[in-house]
Amino acid sequence: MQITDLRRDTTTRPDDKMKAAAFEASLGDSVYGEDEEQNQLEARAAEILGKEAAIFLPSGTMGNLVALLTHTGRAAEIILEQNAHIRTSETGSAAAVGGLMLKGVSAPSGAPSAEDVATAIRADDIHYPRTSLICLETPHYRYGGIVPTLDSFRAVRKVADDHRLPIHLDGARIWNAAVSLSVEPAVIAGYADSVMASLSKGLGAPVGSILAGSERFMGVARRFRKMLGGGMRQTGWLCACGIAALAAENMEQIREDHRNARALAEGIEDIPGLKIDLSRTQTNFVLAHLEEAEMSSGRLVARLWEKGILATQAGPSTVRFVTCSVVDREGIGRAVEAIRAVMEA
Ligand SMILES: *Cc1c(COP(=O)(O)O)cnc(C)c1O
Repeated sequence: MQITDLRRDTTTRPDDKMKAAAFEASLGDSVYGEDEEQNQLEARAAEILGKEAAIFLPSGTMGNLVALLTHTGRAAEIILEQNAHIRTSETGSAAAVGGLMLKGVSAPSGAPSAEDVATAIRADDIHYPRTSLICLETPHYRYGGIVPTLDSFRAVRKVADDHRLPIHLDGARIWNAAVSLSVEPAVIAGYADSVMASLSKGLGAPVGSILAGSERFMGVARRFRKMLGGGMRQTGWLCACGIAALAAENMEQIREDHRNARALAEGIEDIPGLKIDLSRTQTNFVLAHLEEAEMSSGRLVARLWEKGILATQAGPSTVRFVTCSVVDREGIGRAVEAIRAVMEA
C-alpha cells in the first residue's frame, strides 16, 4: 500500500545534495569554534535572519529555552499567547529548568493584542514576579499554522519598547511565515530581539535549529547552550546539512508545501461532515473539523490509516494534516479521495 504521510513536517530526509555536503564536511571541535561548517552556518543564518549573530543548537526546544534563560532571571514572568508552543509543548522547561513563570494571553489570531500585553505587564511591586520578556510565535503551531500579521507584531513591539521589554520570536517555521507574507524572514525577525528557527522541519535538515540575535545576547546564549548540553563537538556533518537546507530550492519546496496544503483544504472543503476555514489555511497545515458526533477525530484518523493516509488527531473533533516534501500533489489527491470515502461510508 502506498503511504501518504501528512502527520508532520519533520519526516523529511536529507536529499542527496545534503548527504554529499555532509560527507565533505571538514569537521572540527565546535565547542572551541573550530568546526568550519558550524561557523559558516551560524554566519549564514544570522545574515538571513537579519541579526548580528546566530548559534546552532540540536533542537528548537533547546533554542527557545536558551533564549528564555538569556533574556530573564529566576522568578521572572514571560507574556505569551496561551497556546504558544513554549507554553504547551516544551515539557514545562521554562518552569522546570528556568524557574520562570508563563503568563498566557488568549489570541486566536496568533499574536496577543497590544492591549492584552500591556494589561499583562506587571506593575513594579515587591509582591509580583518581574515581567521580563514577551514571546511571539509564527506561524502559530496550535492554531493550524496561521501567520499573525506584521501589524500585530508592530503593535506588540511598540508596547515592548514602551516598557523596555525584549521580544523573543519562536519562529520554528519562520520560512513558512515569510512565504505566506511574501517578505524576507529578516523582516519578520526584525520585530524581535531574538529568533529561533528550525532547520529540521520543512527545510529538510536531519537535525538542528538556529537562535539569532545581537552579538552581546549570543555571548550569554552560548554559555546556556553549553550548560544545557548543546556543545556537540564535530557538528560539521549536521551543519553542512543545515547550510544546504537554507538553499533557495528548499524555500521553493516550502512554497510547494503551501500549494499542496491549499489543494488539500480545497479538496476537503466540500466533503460533507467536514468543516474547513480556508482563510486559516495559510501555510503547510490544514485543520479539518468534524461536524457530526458519530465521527470522532480518533475514528477518522484510524480509518485513514487503514487506507495509508497518515494524519494526526488535533482535538476531539479536529484532524490535522501537514504537508512537506515527502508528499506531492498525487499524494494530496489520494488523501482527498480517502477522506471522502471514509466520510461517505
Ligand atoms: C517544532 C517546534 C518547536 C520545537 O522544535 P524541536 O526541534 O522539535 O525541539 C518550537 N516551536 C514551534 C512552533 C515548533 O513547531
